[in-house]
Amino acid sequence: MRALIVSDIHSNLPAFQTVLQQAAPFDVIWCLGDVVGYGPQPNECIELLREYPHVAVAGNHDWAALGRLDLAEFNAEARWAARWTAEALTLDNRAYLEALPTRLVEEPFTIVHGSPREPIWEYILYSFVAAVNFDHFDTTCCLIGHTHSPALFVERKEGDTRIIEADLPPFEEPLPLGQGRCIINPGSVGQPRDGDPRASYAIWDTEKGELVIHRAEYDVEAVQTLMMELGFPARLIARLSYGW
Ligand code: ZN
Repeated sequence: MRALIVSDIHSNLPAFQTVLQQAAPFDVIWCLGDVVGYGPQPNECIELLREYPHVAVAGNHDWAALGRLDLAEFNAEARWAARWTAEALTLDNRAYLEALPTRLVEEPFTIVHGSPREPIWEYILYSFVAAVNFDHFDTTCCLIGHTHSPALFVERKEGDTRIIEADLPPFEEPLPLGQGRCIINPGSVGQPRDGDPRASYAIWDTEKGELVIHRAEYDVEAVQTLMMELGFPARLIARLSYGW
């Protein structure tokens, strides 16, 4: 079985379409949240995801579009996009987002958006934050999104001491998972922030027991042109060129 792991699509249809083409064939999609927000095609992205066998959890931008979060927590551009998304969503797609859980298990993974401790909001950017989160899931590994940067945290035990090794994961080759427990972030499809503008996603191959993170070059200008036409904030348009 091959599972396509996507996170933070953020209403970026050209990026999502390119990932689907490049990743094929796969059997199922695991979506780590934030299908919407920031980008111009929320309905199209939800509807495309729903064409495939998939499971998905909710992210903070999905909740923001539903009015479940206080938008004061967002920066000005994210707030603008959340309001725009709330108005753009069809009733059916809104109902789809409302029904999303915040946590799922697909062995050997727990699936959340932010962190297993706080699935909607917490960012796991550093080892010390990853370390406390290992007590909040029971599976061997946990898949997270939310930071928009690929990351790998592997737990190693020396006696009673827990050591967390943080690595920038390699692309296009299996992650060095070893025997330890781990937290993996596949990066963002629709708004990468690791300085590489290419869409980021992962494939989990159950037969090989391998997880590989891939990058996909997509038509950034196509989504930027649409954002300009719709009057999106300049910063949200520009950042897609640079991957920040
Ligand atoms: Zn996000």
